[in-house]
Amino acid sequence: MNIFADNLKRLEDVAKLDNIKEEEIALLREPVKVNYSELAIGDKKYPAWRILYNRALGPGKGGIRFHPDVSEDEVQSLAFWMVLKNSLADIPYGGAKGGVKFNPKEADDKELEAVSRAYADAFYQELGQDKDVPAPDVYTNGRIMSWILDEFEKKVGHHEPGMITGKPLELGGIALRSDATAAGGYLVTKEAIKEILQDKKEVKIVVQGFGNAGLFMTEKLAADGYKVIAVSDSRGGIYNEAGLDVAALVTFKNSGKAVNEYSAGRAITNAELLELETDILVLAALENQITVENADNIKAKVIVELANGPIVYEADKILFNKKIVVVPDILANSGGVIVSYFEWAQNRTGQILAEDYLKNLLHKKMIVNWGRVYDKYKERSGSITLRQAAYSIAVQRILKAEKYRGRVAAK
Ligand code: GLU
Repeated sequence: MNIFADNLKRLEDVAKLDNIKEEEIALLREPVKVNYSELAIGDKKYPAWRILYNRALGPGKGGIRFHPDVSEDEVQSLAFWMVLKNSLADIPYGGAKGGVKFNPKEADDKELEAVSRAYADAFYQELGQDKDVPAPDVYTNGRIMSWILDEFEKKVGHHEPGMITGKPLELGGIALRSDATAAGGYLVTKEAIKEILQDKKEVKIVVQGFGNAGLFMTEKLAADGYKVIAVSDSRGGIYNEAGLDVAALVTFKNSGKAVNEYSAGRAITNAELLELETDILVLAALENQITVENADNIKAKVIVELANGPIVYEADKILFNKKIVVVPDILANSGGVIVSYFEWAQNRTGQILAEDYLKNLLHKKMIVNWGRVYDKYKERSGSITLRQAAYSIAVQRILKAEKYRGRVAAK
């Protein structure tokens, strides 16, 4: 299936909903620039992309993914979502994304470094603090950001820490960044529990994806006393109706084991996990998890998209008809890029901001952004999804910027 084509349908829906003119919506149908290269490492060649999708609101911004299934269709979709996410988050960025079709889990450190440096060599002319600013994404981290920064700086001949975010502290990173996606997701999940579930007692939670974001978010929700009944990683899930001991499961996972090997629960498949009876289902793995095949079997009351694009277009409609509320990715996982923005701003001004201040700022932004989306959703009294409300707000801000830039007529 073509993920990008699927997503353009969501854009068309918003164009219809808001009566957006053809010449305006056309600006968002395709990327500004697709950069492709083949990274040659020894006798291997890895396809790599950096796609700048839109820059009306500012430089490109978005992560780099290393994964064996990366494709141009996927990177372009991720870049498109970054455009909307950055706009909705009210930060001064356009949107971009990168990816390398490569499995870092099968690589040693030497190869990982070589791929990261080769990526910077291939695309350094496209990157820069005022041009396009990468960050971590699936299977990439601060270490990889360091190699890309170092290689970039060698190429351009000056220091420029603001060309990338998610860096280690010593290279200009900020402590808050590592669990920012989870922290933001946690805040909007709490809002959804309050508004959609009316602060129901004993909220049951299921989490698909026990990697970085999913794991931190599960810990936060468990610490609040919510009952986490199932979690999964790429190898499968573990289910315990009485509630899992999340702290013990984290220790187990951190010792290198798969969650479905954990003894205090029943091993289940990822497909079974998605269909469990639960209040909240957090999707923190990859794209295309809920499709027309399984949407009808979903029993969660609220779905939180911590991953990008876990639900396909047609499945949105099925879930909507079943009155399942989806907190969309561009809102739910925006904590990561919001904190990236703090890091970038700090790198540019040279000022150091207190962690507490930034934590509060993230909190405030997430709650305000949730409120704007939820208000719009209520305004249309449930005739649209939260995703449509979020897309509508995001698209309007971008198109206003395009008008000021004179790319479309002002009236
Ligand atoms: N990869 C993250 C995302 O999908 C973060 C992007 C960033 O910080 O630029 O939102």
